[in-house]
Amino acid sequence: MELGARISDDYRDDPPILVNVLKGGIIFMADLIRATDISVEIDFMEVSSYGDGTESSGVVRILEDLSLSITDRHVLIVEDIVDTGLTLHYILENLETRHPKSIRICTLLDRRGRREIDLQLDYVGFVVPDKFVIGYGLDLAQKYRNLPHIAVLEDEEIP
Ligand code: 5GP
Repeated sequence: MELGARISDDYRDDPPILVNVLKGGIIFMADLIRATDISVEIDFMEVSSYGDGTESSGVVRILEDLSLSITDRHVLIVEDIVDTGLTLHYILENLETRHPKSIRICTLLDRRGRREIDLQLDYVGFVVPDKFVIGYGLDLAQKYRNLPHIAVLEDEEIP
């Protein structure tokens, strides 16, 4: 995978902690680390939006925090899809308070047409149109994560 090679080259001298935001990004994370040839460390964070749980409000509750300290370490956040950017913006602000050496973002999918907050995405797999997608770890009400490919749900509104 091309992204794994780029990440390996960029962090050759000081490998990062890859932080995966659960749950949609797990399959991407698993494939990504296998495509690197540097000794990355991995950690996980689970978050949920306040409110009705479907609409991205930007106010996020941390359900499961990192187990590693990121202070003075390079951090690479690994996401499944960045949509409005609100969730990631909150996570970035939270992680910055722990004084990492740097924070970059790697996302498999970028739905940039719906962005509400300007974020710098350092590594992007694919730009996708304004359609709800499932499969390869991404769910609809916890289903379809097992599909081996990414599919568009034609009739599904993006929440
Ligand atoms: P944001 O805060 O950027 O609007 O939302 C990002 C999160 O919403 C993603 O990490 C993902 O969990 C979820 N999400 C956004 N768009 C989709 C989509 O098309 N399909 C799925 N399954 N989840 C999505």
